Amino acid sequence: MNGMPARLLDGVAVANQIRQDLRPRIDAFAAAEGRAPALGIVLVGEDPASEIYVRNKLKSAGESGLRADLFRLPETARLDEVLAVVRDLNARPDCDGILVQSPLPAALGPEAEQVVFDAIDPRKDVDGFHPENVGRLVQKRPSLVACTPLGVVELLDRSGIAIEGARAVVVGRSDIVGKPVALLLLHRHATVTLCHSRTRDLQGVCASADILVAAIGRPAFVTPAFVRPGATVIDVGINRVTDAGLVRRIFPEGHRRREDFERRGSILVGDVHPGVAEVAGALTPVPGGVGPLTIAMLLSNTLKAAEARCSGSR
Ligand code: NDP
Repeated sequence: MNGMPARLLDGVAVANQIRQDLRPRIDAFAAAEGRAPALGIVLVGEDPASEIYVRNKLKSAGESGLRADLFRLPETARLDEVLAVVRDLNARPDCDGILVQSPLPAALGPEAEQVVFDAIDPRKDVDGFHPENVGRLVQKRPSLVACTPLGVVELLDRSGIAIEGARAVVVGRSDIVGKPVALLLLHRHATVTLCHSRTRDLQGVCASADILVAAIGRPAFVTPAFVRPGATVIDVGINRVTDAGLVRRIFPEGHRRREDFERRGSILVGDVHPGVAEVAGALTPVPGGVGPLTIAMLLSNTLKAAEARCSGSR
């Protein structure tokens, strides 16, 4: 323990700064093109978490001066119907970015997401999931990069945390978070270790980190024993917890989050245990840490895609 509680990295404030910084470019685009940069969001089915994410994305885009259109398909939609919507958006000159909200209904089959993401025009792929964009990221060429990983790096930069030369440990190797975060940190000259469920001595590896990124999907998994005193800890996890016993084990008596749980019957908990705040030098809260950055970077990617597509036409 270093005796001092960690500095909390305020994702809401940083996301607001990013949106403000985008504003003049959005206005310049609108003045030059006679229309706002436009994002098409495809939502299949009625997954409650997806409904909330999509609502937040639409609201945030509208507030920032982008146009965001929602294309809804029923839970029972066939794969070819989803692909037809994507192809239509690919072809529309007044659509700059396309986002298909994940997860797609299970009935579409395990390969559906890959097939749909692959069908998106890479120049409109604001989620950065298309293999062409992933390949370009690996080679450090200009590309559209996944929003959450971009948000992690942006949060570090805007919080004044040095990446170059740092030991960065990323736990989680998914295509949407872990792998692209590791690549971005590597390109910024961190020494990167990428961990996963088969990593031996995970705790020891994590405890060597100057910057520890947790993208695991397990509530409060990263306890103080994983954290070197003074390290920066980025908590990407968003886990909805409904088990009262688990909430009691994670949060001590009288903790504000216990009261939230009593009121609502569920709370969002990160992958990092609250006790880490007593050890880390800096820490992102959940909610209010990486989450708001993800949406800010979606707006940034939409503008970037719009500028890149339209620069040739000016
Ligand atoms: P995935 O389930 O795709 O990946 C989880 C990763 O964690 C895997 O690589 C897995 O290893 C690893 N892992 C699981 N258990 C352990 C363990 N016991 N020890 C070490 N590693 C383990 O999750 P995502 O990457 O999609 O998401 C991770 C978290 O981030 C989730 O809570 C998600 O909700 C959240 N998230 C937040 C976003 C935001 O905007 N803030 C955006 C996207 C996700 P293996 O590969 O070996 O199975």
